Amino acid sequence: MDFVTRVADTPEQAKFRAEVSAWLAENTKRPEHLQKEPRELAEMTPELFEWVKQFRRRLGAKGWLAPLWPKEYGGGALSTELTQVITEEVGRAGVPRIYDNRFVAPSMMVWGTEEQKRHFLPQINRGEVLTFQAFTEPEAGSDAAGIKTTAIRDGDHYIVNGSKVFIGGPFMPDYLWTTAVTDPSAPRHRNMGCFYIPATLPGISYTTMELIVNIGKRFIFFDNVRVPAANLVGGDRNGWRVTQTSLEIEHGAGGNIGEGGGRSVLRELIRYTRETQHDGAALSKDPNVQRLLVQSYIDSHVLRLIGLRNFWMFNNKDKARSTFHGSQSSLLRKTQTMAVGNVVMEVAGPYALISDEKLAPADGEFESNQRQSITAHHPGGTTEIQRLIIARRLGLSRTAEEAAPATVA
Ligand SMILES: Cc1cc2nc3c(=O)[nH]c(=O)nc-3n(C[C@H](O)[C@H](O)[C@H](O)COP(=O)(O)OP(=O)(O)OC[C@H]3O[C@@H](n4cnc5c(N)ncnc54)[C@H](O)[C@@H]3O)c2cc1C
Repeated sequence: MDFVTRVADTPEQAKFRAEVSAWLAENTKRPEHLQKEPRELAEMTPELFEWVKQFRRRLGAKGWLAPLWPKEYGGGALSTELTQVITEEVGRAGVPRIYDNRFVAPSMMVWGTEEQKRHFLPQINRGEVLTFQAFTEPEAGSDAAGIKTTAIRDGDHYIVNGSKVFIGGPFMPDYLWTTAVTDPSAPRHRNMGCFYIPATLPGISYTTMELIVNIGKRFIFFDNVRVPAANLVGGDRNGWRVTQTSLEIEHGAGGNIGEGGGRSVLRELIRYTRETQHDGAALSKDPNVQRLLVQSYIDSHVLRLIGLRNFWMFNNKDKARSTFHGSQSSLLRKTQTMAVGNVVMEVAGPYALISDEKLAPADGEFESNQRQSITAHHPGGTTEIQRLIIARRLGLSRTAEEAAPATVA
């Protein structure tokens, strides 16, 4: 892929784009009452959630949910160029997103046995199962190695006890991708395992958290849960390294060929400034508003380019040079999302805080953005943690560190 100079599709891409676009036109048809995308995940009706799940299965059956992955692991075995086409077209189709943590797949690919890969990866890559990543605990967020949940071996099972917090979304997953201490007497980082476990095993319970964002995050409790040893991935004291692969991809090392952060709210904001009068002129004519919007727009393009660069590096034998790049992408995405939140507030003023159906501008998207932009700091590691990783990867910190091994295919 040549992401800098590519301005038009190659004939192969154009032909494939037409095929994908025609398939999407047919497969995204849904009843009128399921058309509207909820602003926040917990507002999604069970009926729309079910529709999205089925859509993802249809996409997965074609190999288009994991286009780069080999067919034997549920992928489409397509080139990076055609993967880009799918990502762009699916993005344009406006299908609502649901929480499904697929960062487990790269970890399974690096650390799983061949038997685990052949069993789990096709289900994950074809969208047949949904996964929650359950790493965070009440006393182990940034310090993900400080977990207290234990998994003690008992014959061919592990007995898991403990709790996780800030996990997943408002609907039931099929699997949990989770960490637990397997050897309480071993030193930190070498005392834990990573498990891919059925989400409904006896002894697992869920409650929903009340957060400033309405995305249905869960507390999860493990009470003497018997987990088959076959669900341990990567060895019983190797869990730290296994989680690092998932987090490397979550941060963005594998790249992102979708839109840059905050684009949707920025589009709404630009429209709002054109349509809103202030002192006898459209808000968009105000030089200060123009300055804020143009800067945000440029920043969102920079983020998009970083996402494309990481995708290109990751998939073009340049992976060995990937060090700080994932965390750089994560840091920019987070700081930019928070900055866009401030721009929305500066431009829309008190209207950015209104959620009332009749009065709220942009159908309430600004108000929702105000809450979401604050929490953008956290998932997958805060901005401070991303800075820490970058410093370590650049050799600027007390400890030097390399990027975790990762693959997406
Ligand atoms: C919306 C949302 C979605 C989430 N989704 C998931 C999920 O699906 N699965 C999951 O497992 N977790 C999830 N999380 C949890 C997330 O990973 C943690 O919130 C995050 O890692 C920070 O942990 P903490 O909240 O415990 O903050 P703490 O670790 O207590 O940190 C508090 C503050 O101290 C700073 N800090 C901590 N350590 C250092 C340090 N060494 N140097 C400098 N500053 C430091 C942090 O940056 C932060 O500002 C989610 C969180 C949110 C808010």
